[in-house]
Amino acid sequence: MTATLSFGKTETEIKYRLSFEEPNSHLMVVSVSVSGHGKSELDFVLPSWRPGRYAIQNYSRLVQEVSAFDDQNKPIPAKKINKDTWRISISKNQPVTFSYKFYANILDAGSTLYNEEEIYFNGSNLFVYVDGFKHSPVSLTIDSPKDWKTATALKRNPDGSFVSANYDDFIDCPTIISPTIQHHVVTVRNIPFHIWIQGKTNGNILALGESISKIAESQLEFWDGIVPFSEFHFLYHFVDYRNGHGVEHATSTSMVLGPLTDMPDSNNFKSALGTTSHELFHAWNVKKLIPADLVPYDFTKEQYSDLFWFVEGFTSYFDLYLNYKAGILTEAELFADFANQFRIQELTPGNKITSLSESSFDSWLYGYASDGNRNKPISFYGKGEIVGFLMDLKIRSATNGKKQLRDVMLQLYRETVPSGKGYTKADLLRILKSVSGEDFQPFFTEYIDGVTPLPYEKLLAGFGLSLEKEPAPATFRTAAGLDLSRQNKQWVVTNVRPGSPALKAGLDIGDVIKGTETEPIPDTEIDPWLEKVKTNDSVTLEFTRSGETRIAKLENLDPVHYSYKISWKESGKSF
Ligand SMILES: [Zn+2]
Repeated sequence: MTATLSFGKTETEIKYRLSFEEPNSHLMVVSVSVSGHGKSELDFVLPSWRPGRYAIQNYSRLVQEVSAFDDQNKPIPAKKINKDTWRISISKNQPVTFSYKFYANILDAGSTLYNEEEIYFNGSNLFVYVDGFKHSPVSLTIDSPKDWKTATALKRNPDGSFVSANYDDFIDCPTIISPTIQHHVVTVRNIPFHIWIQGKTNGNILALGESISKIAESQLEFWDGIVPFSEFHFLYHFVDYRNGHGVEHATSTSMVLGPLTDMPDSNNFKSALGTTSHELFHAWNVKKLIPADLVPYDFTKEQYSDLFWFVEGFTSYFDLYLNYKAGILTEAELFADFANQFRIQELTPGNKITSLSESSFDSWLYGYASDGNRNKPISFYGKGEIVGFLMDLKIRSATNGKKQLRDVMLQLYRETVPSGKGYTKADLLRILKSVSGEDFQPFFTEYIDGVTPLPYEKLLAGFGLSLEKEPAPATFRTAAGLDLSRQNKQWVVTNVRPGSPALKAGLDIGDVIKGTETEPIPDTEIDPWLEKVKTNDSVTLEFTRSGETRIAKLENLDPVHYSYKISWKESGKSF
C-alpha cells in the first residue's frame, strides 16, 4: 500500500494483482498477497452471490489452477474446505500469496469478461476475500495494456494502482478497461456524473448526457440534500441484441442495454433511461437505505429478507415517478405504465397464492428465472412498483396532499442510515404512521404479507383519480389459460394456468398443438386463427404428446379480460 491514501492504523496489507493470459483463453489471473495478518492459518473465500441479485450463483465454479506461495516463493498447499473456501497453513504472521485463474466469458451487468476487446469485471465474482480481514484496506494493480482506458469508481493512486477502504467497497466498483470506451461527463449540482460507453453506437451520446442530467437533477431534488456520493459513474455496455438491465453500486452502476443504434429515437432509449434512473435511485435505496437483514453482507450463504419488494419494487416505482418529474415521461405515460402493470398483475397466476413478502424471502430459491412452476412466482419488481404507487396515493389522501411517499423515504433514510444497522419492517410501519397518521399494518397484512387483490379503484378514487376498466377481448392464450411458444417449427405448450379451460381439457406442458380437426395451426400469428376457430366459447384442438395424436376440448373460454386507464376526475390536476 502506498502512502497516498491512508485508512487509519493497520499493519495488515492486502494487495491484489490482476493479470491476463491470451484474450481468447478468457483467463484472468488473480493473486492476493497478505502480510501482517498475525495468523498461522488463512481462509480465502470467493462470494457465492453478489449484492443486487439475491440468488446463489457460486462464482467459484469459474476458478481453476489455485496455488499459494510463501514470502520465499515456496509453494504452500491450498486445501479446499468447502465450495468457495481455500485454507492455507503457514508459520505465524508469514506473508503469503494466494493465486488462481478465473474464466471470464460472460457479459451481463454483474459478470466478468475478458477478450480482445475489453477487460470487464465485477469484483464480487472475481476477487476472494481473506476471512477475518474484510475490514482491512486493499490495493489493486492491473496489468492492462498501456493505452487502454479504465472506467471505474475505484480510487486511484498516482502510480496507477487502485485502493479501497475495505473488501465490500472494493468489490462494489465494476470496472471496464478497453481501447475503445467512450467517456463523457455531465455535472449536476457540482457533482460529476461520468458516462462510459463500451460497445458500438451511432447514436447521439449528447442526448444521453442531457437526459442523465435531467434524471440526476430530479433525484437530487427528491432526496432533499442527501447525497451519498461525491461523483458517480454510469458504466454502459451497448449491445446489438435486445437487452436492458443493470446492477446498482454505491457510486456507480453497470448496465447492459441494446440495441441503441438510433438513440435517442427509439423506444429502447426510453427504457434505457428507465434502467439508468432505477440504478441511480438504488444509490440511496439499498446501497444506503438497506434492510437490516442485509447488514453486514455474508457472501457465503443466503441472506434472507422479506423486504426485497421495498428494495426493488419501490425503486421501480420511483424510477418512473422521477423520470416523469424529470420531463422524460409524460404524466399520461406514467399512468399508462401503472395501468399496464395492473393488467400484468391480474394475468399473473402466482398473485393468487404468493405474497410479496414470500416472494422476497424466496428470491434465493428462484433467482430471477422463470423455470420450474410458472404458476407460483410473482415479480416483486412489478407488484412492488404498484404497491409503491398505491401507498403513495394512500399517504397523499390521508394528509390532503400535504405528505407523500417521498416523506417516508426521507424520514426512513434520516432515521436509519446513520446507525449503519439498516431498517426493519417495524421501522417502515412506524414511519408510515408518523408521516401519514395512519396505521399501515392492515394494508401490509392484506396486500404485502397476504394475497388479497390490490384495491386500485378505492385508492385512486380517494386521490381524485378514476380508473376506467375496459373489457379487452382476451387473446386466445389468456382466455384458454395456455402459454405457447414456437419451438422447432412447432407450437409447443409452455404453461397451463391453474383452473383454466386448458387445464380442464387435459393439456400439459410439452404438448404440440397441431390445429383443429379441420384446420392446421398456421406458422405465425396464431391468435387471430385461434379467435376464428373457437365457436360458442369453446374450441377442439388436436395435439400430439409423445408422438401420439390426441384431442382436447377447451370449454367456457373466458371471453373478457380487462385493460385499465388512469385519469383525473377533474381537469387541471397533476401528480
Ligand atoms: Zn433494482
